Amino acid sequence: MIGKARELDGADPLRDFRDRFHVPEGVIYLDGNSLGCLPKATPGVMARVVEQEWGEGLIRSWNDANWFEMGARIGGKIAPLIGAQPGEVIACDSTSVNLFKLIAAGLQMRPGRKVILSEPGNFPTDLYMIEGLERQGLAQRRLAERGRIAEALDEDVAVLMLTHAHYKTGELFDMAALTKAAHDAGALVLWDLSHSTGALPVDLDGVDADFAVGCGYKYLCGGPGAPAFAFVAERHHADLQQPLTGWFGHAHPFAFTDSYEDAPGIEQLQCGTHPVLGLAALEVGVDLIAEIGVERLYAKSRALSEFFLEALHDHGVDLPLVSPPDSGVRGSQLSFRHEHAYAICQALIARGVIGDFRDPDILRLGFAPAYLRFEDMAEAARHLAEVLKSGEWQKAEFNQRAAVT
Ligand SMILES: *Cc1c(COP(=O)(O)O)cnc(C)c1O
Repeated sequence: MIGKARELDGADPLRDFRDRFHVPEGVIYLDGNSLGCLPKATPGVMARVVEQEWGEGLIRSWNDANWFEMGARIGGKIAPLIGAQPGEVIACDSTSVNLFKLIAAGLQMRPGRKVILSEPGNFPTDLYMIEGLERQGLAQRRLAERGRIAEALDEDVAVLMLTHAHYKTGELFDMAALTKAAHDAGALVLWDLSHSTGALPVDLDGVDADFAVGCGYKYLCGGPGAPAFAFVAERHHADLQQPLTGWFGHAHPFAFTDSYEDAPGIEQLQCGTHPVLGLAALEVGVDLIAEIGVERLYAKSRALSEFFLEALHDHGVDLPLVSPPDSGVRGSQLSFRHEHAYAICQALIARGVIGDFRDPDILRLGFAPAYLRFEDMAEAARHLAEVLKSGEWQKAEFNQRAAVT
């Protein structure tokens, strides 16, 4: 397998991009879907922003270094990765906070309707954010299994809120079909693109989506806790009223007036002073992912996961796959079920193969296409086969029990 892997790496049009990231020595990193690798350019940019723009420029840098525009500027660079217009996306806050703003805005745009429809097992924060609004008496949470979402759409549903690529299984929703079904029922749709952006193509405007959010620290490599982004289709900009009416969302923040007036464009999604340092790091990741191009990333992501499955098969490993077997309908990851998934994950980490465990029995391996090689796939498959055969995970399991008791 390793010979074939090296051949594929030699022919990989993205092979030179690996060198633009810091990938730690001796590590095969299969968790770029949780925290993306550090672009090598980031520390230099951060040093400049800290030492020059902050250290020397101080308050003047809000204008001289264009700090004010950062959220909209970076949003404009994320837009083509998700099929949006530059004026429809802004980098701001966390994904959770952006969910809150857009769910609340959606409720207000559908008076008389209170239901936010999602699926059980969606990413926890997405479901929790609905609950928060439910506690305020503003929303009502309804969950329907993925096969039954269309029938759960009725005249009470204000917003259909789903995650495009499921965090645990990688299974994709058909964005076009569900957006249309929501619209046919008179509801708005809010897509969470946290596990899609930077790995798979998304066409928000093409499917006529209303709202979307996504994460900056996963495939976009913006660093731990990087600002997230929010999308609002331009047709809604005039009617939108999001509840976190901080001064950065004001039409004239420096008029210092007593009353709030929404900024006319996507800037109305901002709340308080934005985190300049976090945005500076995010911009490096976004620029690099945009330079590689989402179509090429997607093609490689599919090829990597297919090759990994082939390599596992070659080693005689037959773990139940929780992800869809067809790479065309899954995100950039493979999840396997094993009752000792936690221990297996720990044994892999001890060998330098970093994936993750998702409760209760899932081993999740992410294939960030910007910096992984086919050789990594062959090696990771070999390690997994060896871990399973040697039983060394039993030791890791013993350690887990010891840690718990
Ligand atoms: C990672 C992720 C988030 C993260 O939300 P934060 O507010 O950044 O913690 C939200 N939704 C989904 C689907 C995710 O995968």
